[in-house]
Amino acid sequence: MANMRLDKNKIPEQDPQVRAGNFKEVALGYTAEMAMDEAQRCLNCKNQPCVAGCPVNVRIPEFLSLVAEGKFLEAAAVVKSTNSLPAICGRVCPQETQCEALCVRGKKGEPVGIGRVERFVADYQMEHSVEKVEVAPSNGHKVAVIGSGPAGLTCAGDLAKLGYQVTIFEALHTPGGVLVYGIPEFRLPKALVRREIATVEALGVKLIPNMVIGKSTTLDELLQEEGFEAVFVGSGAGLPNFQKIPGENLLGVYSANEFLTRINLMKAYDFPQHDTPVKVGKTVAVVGGGNVAMDAARCAKRMGAEHVYIVYRRSDAELPARAEEVHHAKEEGIIFRLLTNPTQIFGDEEGRVKSMEVIEMELGEPDASGRRRPIAKKGSEYIIDVQTVVIAIGNSPNPLIKSTTPGLECQSWGGIIADEETGKTSREGVYAGGDAVTGAATVILAMGAGKKAAAAIDDYIKNK
Ligand code: FAD
Ligand code: SF4
Repeated sequence: MANMRLDKNKIPEQDPQVRAGNFKEVALGYTAEMAMDEAQRCLNCKNQPCVAGCPVNVRIPEFLSLVAEGKFLEAAAVVKSTNSLPAICGRVCPQETQCEALCVRGKKGEPVGIGRVERFVADYQMEHSVEKVEVAPSNGHKVAVIGSGPAGLTCAGDLAKLGYQVTIFEALHTPGGVLVYGIPEFRLPKALVRREIATVEALGVKLIPNMVIGKSTTLDELLQEEGFEAVFVGSGAGLPNFQKIPGENLLGVYSANEFLTRINLMKAYDFPQHDTPVKVGKTVAVVGGGNVAMDAARCAKRMGAEHVYIVYRRSDAELPARAEEVHHAKEEGIIFRLLTNPTQIFGDEEGRVKSMEVIEMELGEPDASGRRRPIAKKGSEYIIDVQTVVIAIGNSPNPLIKSTTPGLECQSWGGIIADEETGKTSREGVYAGGDAVTGAATVILAMGAGKKAAAAIDDYIKNK
């Protein structure tokens, strides 16, 4: 008999006042008792609507039943059979718009806390069992993967399991993509990402850092001179978009990418122990309303800013960030200036940001994205004093691979054109997936694309 309590078990968290001053993980995770209790809320629905809501179709009721019985390692094995990075997904997936959005328990009360239980089983497995990684015998075929984010890692792992000799080429000095340079430590501990990457390497995947494909060597050289029979492009969407307003080149204006990379990857929060600084003023404005904006705002607060604003042109209802991140940001004292858009940034005589002009907005009819269009209210401009501005209004794929790979067809905005089911591109033997194809999206969608492409590459090489 299911536990019919209407609300989810709350997840223990660091106190907002305390955590706003440190980079340690905010959510502390369920205890075994909480996980079992939460799993017992599942009704084991015959038609399993939650599974359809998961982009990699984790067998949710099956793993919840095992957790309810205290069989945590068995539950972890069920999750891992379709999701190779559950400790990451349990922490960062937007469950409220995926599996939990379709959970029957959500019709009356809160849905089952699927993500929280997934995180528990993944962490439990890491702590309590040594995963046996079996290296498949080599099938003699070589595949190259460009980029070591969730798309590249998943594709590489799946191909290695099939016996391919896989090499990942990564532009940065550290693998992991956005998982290491974007999402902050307090949401996703880097030790955990390193562990997941080590598992992929244990499968026999070779990781070459500091290798920018398109500069150090080209995609065609990989195919024609280095002996790779296929290439998967998982190069993400790392090119920041800007507002294109006067003053964006002033000192103190950052793209969210630069701001977060300095803080997370280069550990500016531990300056001078680590040698990359980041200058954060007393008042910081972060422009945008997605996960990236929330992360930048919460990092700014932790770096010592007294006032941090989220400046977003639509309303609360349209904020694209995960509900939990918005909630956490509010708890930590981030001030939301909604229906507000920047029009220009002003500097002092030394070229440093001193203030930003914003304009009030109202919502009109829905636009192509289905969201109501923000319209500026004439004459409503006003000035806010700020010393740092972080622009977090989205990213596009970097044009480097496109410009150095003749015949690789791309969308006008830079996304590589690839078949949704296979990742096949316009170039033979070249597959692509993740943010490089879709533009900025989610970890789980990138993983799903890497998985599909691995199956298609296997098929291609076998039938060549
Ligand atoms: P990436 O993770 O971007 O990895 C691409 C890799 O390719 C990078 O390591 C890059 O250095 C490398 N690369 C690029 N060009 C080359 C080249 N020419 N040669 C070699 N290597 C190259 N998603 C969620 O689901 N939940 C969240 O909470 C969430 N929060 C986010 C917060 C931030 C700050 C950001 C920026 C994104 C967030 N996302 C979130 C989105 C998610 O992280 C991405 O959708 C996902 O990482 C995309 O994976 P990917 O493998 O396609 O690309
Ligand atoms: Fe359990 Fe909810 Fe899935 Fe039904 S929809 S099986 S209650 S998790």
